[in-house]
Amino acid sequence: MKKPTLVNHPPDVSPPPGNQPVIAPIYQSVKFEFETVDDTLRMLRGEAPGYFYMRASNPTTRQLELTLAQLQGRDDCLATASGVNAIAQTLLGLTKSGDHVLFFIETYGPTRNIIRRLLARFGVEHTMLSIEDLAGIENVLASRPTRLVFFESPTNPVTKVADIERIVDLAHRHGALAVLDNTFAGFHQHGEYGIDVFVHSLTKYASGTGDVMGGAVIARQDLIDDLRPDFSVLGAHLDPHAAFLIQRGLKTYFVRYSAQTANAQKIAQFLAGHPAVTRCHYPGLSTHPQFALARKQMKEPGTVVSFDLRDGSEAARKFSEGLKLFALTASLGSTESLVMAPQLIGSRDFTPEQARQSGVTAGTVRLSIGLEDAGDLIDDIDQALGG
Ligand SMILES: *Cc1c(COP(=O)(O)O)cnc(C)c1O
Repeated sequence: MKKPTLVNHPPDVSPPPGNQPVIAPIYQSVKFEFETVDDTLRMLRGEAPGYFYMRASNPTTRQLELTLAQLQGRDDCLATASGVNAIAQTLLGLTKSGDHVLFFIETYGPTRNIIRRLLARFGVEHTMLSIEDLAGIENVLASRPTRLVFFESPTNPVTKVADIERIVDLAHRHGALAVLDNTFAGFHQHGEYGIDVFVHSLTKYASGTGDVMGGAVIARQDLIDDLRPDFSVLGAHLDPHAAFLIQRGLKTYFVRYSAQTANAQKIAQFLAGHPAVTRCHYPGLSTHPQFALARKQMKEPGTVVSFDLRDGSEAARKFSEGLKLFALTASLGSTESLVMAPQLIGSRDFTPEQARQSGVTAGTVRLSIGLEDAGDLIDDIDQALGG
């Protein structure tokens, strides 16, 4: 073998039988081969297990998919390059021209854009209500055939808690699928409800480090089987290196989620008692309008705390810029704390009535609470409030 051949066919260093790595390696390979055409065809026809081309599947990404499916309590999972990609592909894969979808004012902004702009271009119709309008949900579902209801809980940024049992029941009674973006609650929550499809951003709690993006669709087998052919041709399969980092992050998911939630609870209590704050939104506060529902439905109320400042948008801007330990940026669920100023939260696509229903005011600030010492975070918030 000449050296130009050697560098393209390097020595095999697979561990011998019985000798396994404790951590699965990153299969950074686009292609997988069988020795024969017939073995390749058997795998491609789904008659034998295996891998062929990374855009369809890869063992590292597959390990993450199987882990997430078990965490959320469903049969299978498709991992994607971002959370919005998981949402876009789910919505594209489950709808066709003439279908109707129901979604909410409180839905994540890019998801509203997917439904109102992208799906609309393909003739998929929609109705947008407030997540609090259960009578409206029932009316819409009773009055027009609906393919799916897409919702979130707790919602962004003011942590409204959706009545999952009611919404799933209404959807199913009227022949619609219930699709939940469960990013805020996490993989260990809401699995006991009859949700048909969970979508997640893996960019948030999954790794916790804020250095990698990903998304996931988690559902029962028949739905994943229906979605899979579109996924492999739309071409946003999660890269194995990103999958490895997310899989590694999941090792500490439960302790991070609980410790950050404990911090968030303390911070919410501090904010609720502060004279500059008119209202603190956190599902773990007894003053939260759906506190009883949150207690029943959630194991842990999560790490996003938002609040309204009495003195409105300029006070909120000053507060957000005055924090030293909180990064002024998007996202949530990372081990470092983050703040979003109201100027950055705004939804320019709302009518004044929809803006009112969204619950976001000129002085609404959103905090994502990390793993720092709770006392340090409270001191920082106190100084930024001018205390
Ligand atoms: C961040 C987020 C997304 C989008 O996820 P990306 O990974 O940023 O694409 C979707 N839904 C919710 C609720 C989110 O917070």
